[in-house]
Amino acid sequence: MQKKIEILGCFIDAVDSRDALQKAEEFILQGIPSHVITLNAEIAYAASSDPELKKIINKADLVTPDGIGIVWAARRKGYDLKERVTGIDMVYNLSELASEKGYKVFLLGAAPGVAEKAAENLQLKYPDLIICGTRDGYFREEEVDEVIDEIRNLSPHILMVALGAPKQEFFINRYKERLEVPLCLGVGGSFDVISGLKKRAPEIMIKLNLEWLYRLVLEPKRLKRQMALPKFVIKVLKEEK
Ligand code: UDP
Repeated sequence: MQKKIEILGCFIDAVDSRDALQKAEEFILQGIPSHVITLNAEIAYAASSDPELKKIINKADLVTPDGIGIVWAARRKGYDLKERVTGIDMVYNLSELASEKGYKVFLLGAAPGVAEKAAENLQLKYPDLIICGTRDGYFREEEVDEVIDEIRNLSPHILMVALGAPKQEFFINRYKERLEVPLCLGVGGSFDVISGLKKRAPEIMIKLNLEWLYRLVLEPKRLKRQMALPKFVIKVLKEEK
């Protein structure tokens, strides 16, 4: 059994990238629809006042620590997590695994054309990777049935959903049984980066845990969202008292 770390009522698995990949493969082999979440401080904070979201997080099959806020909070509880396990890490690691094992991948989400371009770039990096389909994330509520049928008919082993958190978590939770995909995971803005539409922070900033600052400078509109991090910190400290 994996150790669970409780942060603001959300239970997070104490895993590194290797453990997460191993777990993900177990889900694929079991063949039962599973939900993997890479949880950051913003979503943990949102969940602390959204019981529906908290419920979805706590019944997910794997919740990885995504972001320095979560690693910091875990450390205060005595867990020395080796690393963050982000959505984009999972996309690359799973693509490598899938290309080795012949697992089929479907990319759902981001603006029109972005998932295709991300698929092209993943294909260049992993020539044996089978991407059985892509679809943008701007479909209407009335089109959901069609989206589900399209994915189910292609029977991917892995569905990467880039609708942004927590929208992607609600989507996966609601439809995973109908999709019949063994491994469904939310990957946030990963396709934007993999397609080249957006740049990821330089390696040094990622290492120094300053990726959030890079994103903020490029997209000042994110400030409101990123205010969740200090609020998260304050709430974690308050809970310790
Ligand atoms: N997105 C989408 N459908 C929507 C809303 C958002 O496909 O209805 C996509 C958006 O184009 C972007 C991603 O979801 O590719 C969200 O990116 P963001 O960086 O905001 O996500 P985060 O990683 O912070 O969750």
